[in-house]
Amino acid sequence: MYDITIIGGGVCGAAIAMYLSKYDVKCCLLEKDNDIAIGTTRANSGIVHAGYDPEPDTLMARLNVRGCELIEHLAEKLNIPYRKVGSMVIAFDAKDEAHLHKLYERGIANGVRGMELLGKDTLLEREPNLSPNVTGALYAPSAAVVNPWRLCLAMAETAAKNGVEFFLNSEVTIIEKINGAFAVTAGGKVFDTRYIINAAGLYSDKIAELVGAKDFEIHASKGQYYLLDKTSDWIVNSVIFQCPTEKGKGVLVSPTAEGNIIVGPNAESDNERDDVSTTREGLEFVSAEAAKTTKLIDYRENIRSFAGLRANSDKRDFIIGESALCRHFINVAGIKSPGLTSSPAIGEYVIEVLEDCGLILTEKENWEYPEPHICFAELSNEQKAEACRRNKLYGNVVCRCNLVTEGEILDALENSYIKPTTLDGIKRRTGSGMGRCQGGFCGVKVHEILCKYYGVPAEEVLWDKDGSYIVAGKVGESND
Ligand SMILES: Cc1cc2nc3c(=O)[nH]c(=O)nc-3n(C[C@H](O)[C@H](O)[C@H](O)COP(=O)(O)OP(=O)(O)OC[C@H]3O[C@@H](n4cnc5c(N)ncnc54)[C@H](O)[C@@H]3O)c2cc1C
Repeated sequence: MYDITIIGGGVCGAAIAMYLSKYDVKCCLLEKDNDIAIGTTRANSGIVHAGYDPEPDTLMARLNVRGCELIEHLAEKLNIPYRKVGSMVIAFDAKDEAHLHKLYERGIANGVRGMELLGKDTLLEREPNLSPNVTGALYAPSAAVVNPWRLCLAMAETAAKNGVEFFLNSEVTIIEKINGAFAVTAGGKVFDTRYIINAAGLYSDKIAELVGAKDFEIHASKGQYYLLDKTSDWIVNSVIFQCPTEKGKGVLVSPTAEGNIIVGPNAESDNERDDVSTTREGLEFVSAEAAKTTKLIDYRENIRSFAGLRANSDKRDFIIGESALCRHFINVAGIKSPGLTSSPAIGEYVIEVLEDCGLILTEKENWEYPEPHICFAELSNEQKAEACRRNKLYGNVVCRCNLVTEGEILDALENSYIKPTTLDGIKRRTGSGMGRCQGGFCGVKVHEILCKYYGVPAEEVLWDKDGSYIVAGKVGESND
């Protein structure tokens, strides 16, 4: 019998798993897909929001500001790409400026530190490539950019190292209540558990429905993006937002944690929960909006267009707490933006929720972060030479854009607690395929390494989720 079963391996499930792994409890995490961090967590803006946006006195405001502090600390401990670049909300007229004052006041109420209202001249000194039509900005120095899936993976790896069991390809389909506990059917197995944490993102209302506790609805809202090559990194220095609207935080132009430039998202309500296609209209809207911020974006430098899906609920705040309709069933639902930022604070908060539900949690004596894997590109020449002497596979460059070596790919396969099985799984852990060629050169090599490592035929290795096969068989061979 598990004490706690977490449903969903996104950044919220991973953060909850990491904080729970500090206590003496038997805990597992069930994820429907073949890897973690491949729901909403993999396709978003990657901004660590400062916290001036949420309404004061909401859970969202509290967890946003706390999460922003925690991520800065965790980024160092977990060795993940993070840059504290600050953010600017820019104004174009008096109405926008009134809005900046409102955000500033809200930020003060929420406990955001160091904000400044900047006039046009100071703003253009700091961000010389913005439109000359700007009139001022709200600057928040605590805002940052982070690689979202690396944050999720690192927290999940920490949880796994400290005893949380992860089950991939384990879609929860049935939950039965038996003698005050639950029997959860997932991936052909039954998991008996005392508590359930529902962190299933876009499907969290469906999971609540399985225990007869659906008192909220999730609606998917799509956001589309351009990701520009690092050659465009001169355009902006910090995260540049326009004033938020009813629909969301608007189109931003921002550096990423890796040094690319990201432009987007739009907001398309009432989408299918799994439709992450991009469209010409969506992307044209994004580029037209971004042109108000700066006219200097060259979309020939676009290396990837993608879309993510927000899990919007019919409630104004995050839905976090024990369900009023089912004891020991804890929802972590409706986690739209700033959910990525808030995730570690959500992890901390769920511990409080569990204690309030009567779970006695005793801290473990031995708890540690996993050892970081080598990142060859970041080593000095002497360290690179030493690494190659120890293992000649560090001398075999697989991804030329990001200088990722075969040694690092094998580290990801051999030394991860949650093992990647797909090309994108390797990309998320090593950065191979994330450069200008987007896997055009290294994809074939990574595919070969995966076939060899798992001892499987080429057609069994997937690009990403189920069904994303790369090759169907040898030319001339019959499939009969
Ligand atoms: C366009 C966009 C931009 C955003 N930008 C930002 C930003 O800049 N900063 C910020 O802080 N936040 C941002 N967010 C919000 C942030 O991405 C989310 O709040 C966060 O990723 C939610 O994580 P999650 O773990 O709740 O959900 P998910 O990452 O979706 O994880 C849920 C997991 O549950 C699994 N699951 C579902 N059903 C089942 C089942 N039946 N059985 C087992 N597993 C199941 C899914 O496969 C998935 O892996 C943005 C979101 C979007 C869409």
